[in-house]
Amino acid sequence: MAKPTVAVGSLGGTITMTSDTGSGVAPAWGAADLVAQVPGLADVASVSATTLAMLPGASLRYSDIDQALSWARSAVDAGASGAVLVQGTDTLEETSYLLELYWDRPQPLVVTGAMRAPQRAGSDGPANLLAAVATAVDPGARGLGVLVVMNDEIHAASRVCKVDAMAVDAFGSPVFGPLARLVEGSPAWGNHFQRHPPLAGQGDSVADPRVALLTTHLADSGELLTHLVEAEYDGAVIAALGVGHVSSEFANAVSTATERFVVVFASRTGAGSTGWKSYGFAGSEKDLIARGAIPAGWLTPLKARLLLWALVRQRSCRNRIAEEFAARGTLRRS
Ligand code: ASP
Repeated sequence: MAKPTVAVGSLGGTITMTSDTGSGVAPAWGAADLVAQVPGLADVASVSATTLAMLPGASLRYSDIDQALSWARSAVDAGASGAVLVQGTDTLEETSYLLELYWDRPQPLVVTGAMRAPQRAGSDGPANLLAAVATAVDPGARGLGVLVVMNDEIHAASRVCKVDAMAVDAFGSPVFGPLARLVEGSPAWGNHFQRHPPLAGQGDSVADPRVALLTTHLADSGELLTHLVEAEYDGAVIAALGVGHVSSEFANAVSTATERFVVVFASRTGAGSTGWKSYGFAGSEKDLIARGAIPAGWLTPLKARLLLWALVRQRSCRNRIAEEFAARGTLRRS
């Protein structure tokens, strides 16, 4: 029987990085080089390889992600069972979520990378790429949107975070865990997951809205938020304390900022949801909501920033932004 087809596209990252000089690794391999290094890949799928960019994760731009999105759509529209995008792990939790917001096909778009460069002992790139392709052809992945496959785990793009700077198991989905694990090369789906539909109305857009992410901290007066207002930013996400708290002074800055742009607050803790109605002091989540800020719920600050960016890019009004955050951030079923 003919093997399913999977398109593999590469943007760069450690998985593509080598060094001849000992001066530190940098992107050097294209998609065809990556595919050629994976034992057993041809047994799983018939793979095409496209080099989209050769960049570290830190230098990816929105335009690279737009290009990757168009490439993946064309691949599945031309008959591929799924698409696999290879990139740097540094920004993978962000790019995969941005892709998830726009991915409008039933076939899976799987994002992967590596923590160890190809020339290092125990390099994880080939295993991750093989697992990503196996996921892309698996019927269980259909309809789940954008998935992240690392270290034999499959994560939803809306939940996955980079949780370790160096370890091979650098990715996790805090609180809920991965959706599946690869067992002997095939996904075993352990958790039920229902994705939100992609963002509607992608037509009219602002080129590149300026949406900032600020982490608040002990004794923070909110001065930087005031600077964002003066600099005419288009939106801001605050990585707030606990369930969504800032100092009372910072809360005053939020009142001024919400008159000029949409302010969202998320939890800076790395796991768990914002609250809505638990605390009532000045600077509490209840107080911030009363001042016009929007809670991000379960969305991490990084993901909340991308959702706000995408909505501002579409010129969405505040009500629509609040609705999207309520739908994507609360995980409640009505
Ligand atoms: N450490 C990163 C990686 O794993 C470097 C990058 O994001 O390009 O790929």
